[in-house]
Amino acid sequence: MFAYRLPPLPSIGDILKLYNLDAKKKLSQNFLLDNKLRSKLVCAGGKLKDCHVIEVGPGPGSLTRNIFQQKAFHVHVIEKDPRFLPTLELLKEATYGRLSIHIGDVLKFDMKPLIPEELKREWEGDTPMIRIIGNLPFSISTPLIFKWLEQISKRSDIWCFGRVPLTLTFQEEVAQRMVAHPCHFQRSRLSIMCQNWCEVDHKFVIPGRAFIPKPDVNVSVVYMTPRIKPLIDLDFKLVEKVVFAVFSQRGKYCKRGVERLFPEHLREELVKKLLIVSDIDSTKRPYELSMKDFDRIVHCYAALLEENPTLKKYI
Ligand code: SAM
Repeated sequence: MFAYRLPPLPSIGDILKLYNLDAKKKLSQNFLLDNKLRSKLVCAGGKLKDCHVIEVGPGPGSLTRNIFQQKAFHVHVIEKDPRFLPTLELLKEATYGRLSIHIGDVLKFDMKPLIPEELKREWEGDTPMIRIIGNLPFSISTPLIFKWLEQISKRSDIWCFGRVPLTLTFQEEVAQRMVAHPCHFQRSRLSIMCQNWCEVDHKFVIPGRAFIPKPDVNVSVVYMTPRIKPLIDLDFKLVEKVVFAVFSQRGKYCKRGVERLFPEHLREELVKKLLIVSDIDSTKRPYELSMKDFDRIVHCYAALLEENPTLKKYI
C-alpha cells in the first residue's frame, strides 16, 4: 500500500521563479497555475484511481500533482525540455518513485514499453486502466493527434492495450473542428478523421488569461475514447487521402475535391461514377457531407482502386 497524499511542496509559481524557468515560445510553454482548473482538467475524463497515466508535456509538474491527487497508481511524463528535470525529480521523490520521467519528443516516443502487459484488455471490452492526459503544446497538437489516430486505427503502440482514452487540451478553434457536425462552420478534415476513430467530447473552455504567459486564444479540454468500430472501417491512409482531397476545395461543390483523386484523362468518367454509386449530390459542399456520406465515398473509391490499381499512385 502507498499513501496517495503528496507531502507539502513549493507552489508551481515559486518553482518557476526558483529554477528561473521562463517560458519558451518555441515549445508552446503556457503554464496553468490555477489549481481548480488543473483539477477540473485531469478529472474531465472520469476517475483516475489506480490508473497508469501517461502525461505529455508536464513542464514543472503542475498537472502531474493533480493527477497524483486523483490517486493514479503510476505516472509517466514525457517532456522535451530538460530544464524541468530537477522539479520533476522533486515530485518523483515526493511520490516515492511512482513518477517516471522521460525526456524526449512525444512525436517520436514509443509509449508501449511503459505499461505492464497485464493491463491489456480486449478492444471490444471496457477501457483499460491506462489514461493519456496532456496540456498539449499548441505547436504539435495537430500532427500528434493525426499520429495517434493512425495508431488507434491500427491498435498499435499504447492502443495494443485496448481503447486507451485521452484527455487533452487544444486551441478552442481546433477543438471546435474536432467535434464539428455537418454544416458547422468549423467542419473540416479534422472533424472527419477524429470522429471516425474516436468519440470526441468537448468538455469545457479555459480562458487564455488562466495561463502564464497568456496565449492569444482560449483553450479547450477534449476527451476522446477510441471507437470499438470506426464509422468508416477502412485503412487510415486511404480515408485520409480521400478526406484530404475532398476538403482541398472546402468552399466549392464536393465534386471539385473528388476530381483531385483521378488523373485528368479518367477524371470526368470516374468522378461521375463515384458520385452516382455513392449517391452523393455533386453540388453539396464538403462541409455539408455526413460521416455516412464519407463512408460511401471512401468505399466507392476503394472499389475503383480494386478495378484499376494504377489509380493508387495518383496524388
Ligand atoms: N503541463 C504544464 C502545465 O499544464 O502548466 C505545461 C504545459 S505547456 C502548454 C506544454 C509542455 O509541453 C511544455 O512543458 C513543453 O516543454 C512541452 N513540450 C513541447 N513540445 C514537446 C514535445 N515535442 N514533446 C514533449 N513535450 C513537449
